[in-house]
Amino acid sequence: MALNKSMHPRNRYRDKPPDFSYLASKYPDFQQHVHTSLTGRPVVNFKEPAAVRSLTCTLLREDFGLTIDIPLERLIPTVPLRLNYIHWVEDLTDGQKQPRRGIDIGTGASCIYPLLGATMNGWHFLATEVDDICFDYATKNVEQNKMSEFIKVVKVPQKTLLMDALKEETELVYDFCMCNPPFFANQLEAKGVNSRSSRRPPPSSVNTGGVTEIMAEGGELEFVKRIIHDSLQLKRRLRWYSCMLGKKCSLAPLKEELRKQGVPKVTHTEFCQGRTMRWALAWSFYDDVIVPSPPSKKRKLEKVRKPLSFALPAAGLKELRAKASSASGGGAVDRVAALLEETLTDLRVLHKRVPSRKHELSLFLTAAENTWIHGRQKRRESSRQLRELPREALAAPAPENRSDGKNDGGGGGGASNENTSAEQIENGAAPSNETGEDGEKEFSENEPGEDVDMACSARAGEETAPRETPAAATSEPAPSKRPPGERFLLKCLLNVALEEGDVAVEMHWVEGQSKDLMNQLCTYLKNTLLRCVAKP
Ligand code: SAH
Repeated sequence: MALNKSMHPRNRYRDKPPDFSYLASKYPDFQQHVHTSLTGRPVVNFKEPAAVRSLTCTLLREDFGLTIDIPLERLIPTVPLRLNYIHWVEDLTDGQKQPRRGIDIGTGASCIYPLLGATMNGWHFLATEVDDICFDYATKNVEQNKMSEFIKVVKVPQKTLLMDALKEETELVYDFCMCNPPFFANQLEAKGVNSRSSRRPPPSSVNTGGVTEIMAEGGELEFVKRIIHDSLQLKRRLRWYSCMLGKKCSLAPLKEELRKQGVPKVTHTEFCQGRTMRWALAWSFYDDVIVPSPPSKKRKLEKVRKPLSFALPAAGLKELRAKASSASGGGAVDRVAALLEETLTDLRVLHKRVPSRKHELSLFLTAAENTWIHGRQKRRESSRQLRELPREALAAPAPENRSDGKNDGGGGGGASNENTSAEQIENGAAPSNETGEDGEKEFSENEPGEDVDMACSARAGEETAPRETPAAATSEPAPSKRPPGERFLLKCLLNVALEEGDVAVEMHWVEGQSKDLMNQLCTYLKNTLLRCVAKP
């Protein structure tokens, strides 16, 4: 449950996953589905719909006092992920009058959002459903929990979304709508064809959804676009419109649609749950709403922008003075920078000083070829040969030195290795065979690690790893000295700064073939400098 820390901060399961042993001892039905793993831990098999259902019903009973029935052939919600969405709606509607009134589009057999919202927060709901079985179960679930005062379940025709559902309603303004739309466009998509990376193992949990539940014409993208178009008519009749998304790649086109339509307030979030990811989008025509910022951005930028760094201890720095031939007798930062420049020249890595903060020195590096993974002797030799070549040749990576991840020695993979495993997770969860989110495996402690795969090849623009640091964005040297159509292996920004007496060297990725290359170069520079410090 590596991602539990990314659950909504108020999610009760974030720091306290359900205690299967305790629940099994208290609920005989659940006990049937709890087994002991080889390591002696109590586990639940998420491939069994009956086990998933039992866990959901047990948690709703134990933690929310709710008693629900769900047919096995309909979507079985998992409680922690549904809670994330409820908490996000709390954030969106924070500060609004009580009781809040909302609409749940496609409430499902469980009627889970209205039941949770009413139980936890006293919210009132209009819950819509097209499917007869779901409608009947939802109605019964509301009644048996004595929630009819709070929740009105209505059966609507397939084409209906918000507009028609609201025609009959007298409520003037709703605080929000929420929706867990049918994710798939067709049977193939529902089976995971085209949406599941071939490297990804089969899902470890089960798809339990019925046809109307998991499929809609055009998939979730079209479904949510229809809600957007309804919202353009209804505008301020609802304070917040929101939708959950099963594919990350749905986010960008929907945001673009909202931008095109001039919707003033738009935000999104992501829900992390075990190894399952979901996204949610919200928009409003009100100027006075609180707009929670996307929580993931900061986390991602921190991760992506974290530089490579090393420090040179103050003790050895004085030794560098003599070593750095171009040192102008300046401070420790200047001396280290001069030595770095000398090393970079030796490596034929183009480097240019760029504006930096006070007491700091920045170099913009452009490497055309990988000269740092080979022996010094070989480098000198190829350097000599290259000096005799026209300048254009220098711009193209030498074939034997090309670092495309296949022959760059200890560096490992190429560009594809840029993504950390954590990033892979951010790249998207295919709903795959897991209906809606029945793929949620949040409590499947017995499962082997399964990465969430790319739901589709297009990545939402803003979610792509940033290509530049703020400094680099404004300080790249003019390309005048470089031949047109220059090819390069790597561009990065190198900062040298004084930090508590030591000199810290940081390397920030800008662009290039692979971050592994920067890693190698960083190691090379570090070793060179440390050698200088160690051997006066
Ligand atoms: N909200 C539930 C169910 C989500 S599945 C949960 O989160 O578990 C999507 C649901 O939307 C299905 O029950 C499906 O029958 C229903 N649905 C599909 N098209 C709809 C429409 N046009 N209006 C209302 N409900 C719809």
